[in-house]
Amino acid sequence: MEKILVSRCLLGEPVRYDGRGAPCRAPQLEQWRREGRLIAVCPELAGGLACPRPPAEVQGADGGAVLTGEARVLTQSGQNLTDAFLRGANAALDLCRQHGIRLALLKARSPSCGATDTYDGSFSGRLLPGVGVTAARLRRAGIQVFDEQQLPNLAAALQALEPGSTMRPC
Ligand code: SF4
Repeated sequence: MEKILVSRCLLGEPVRYDGRGAPCRAPQLEQWRREGRLIAVCPELAGGLACPRPPAEVQGADGGAVLTGEARVLTQSGQNLTDAFLRGANAALDLCRQHGIRLALLKARSPSCGATDTYDGSFSGRLLPGVGVTAARLRRAGIQVFDEQQLPNLAAALQALEPGSTMRPC
């Protein structure tokens, strides 16, 4: 059975920087949970950060640039969290390899998990197209990454890999 890596906050776990979760209540996700497909990870906690913690953003680029050393992840006060974000991305990839995971459902717009856009580093709410550090790490390893706004796409990708899986409306 195909497993799916999922952001812990999407399961309602209180792991975000503000000590809260970000539960995704889609029936499709609940079905995958019941089927035992979900392997949960919070890359920022896995990288050694605390909860709650100061928010952080990739500075003027996306997670791909962090992987190549061209950008850093900083808090608003300038604390450099780049190493913790990279450790978390590697921990998420290790989990994927351990479980043979080819699909991931990650929280939108996070500097770790974002799959389509991330905040631009100005802490002003502005978004840039691009992915978080963990999403970039997984994509470079060939894992398909989606966010909670792309559940139908993830369901289709799952069905393509495992034709017997059922698709439900999200
Ligand atoms: S790192 Fe990912 S899983 Fe952890 S709180 Fe942020 S978005 Fe959620």
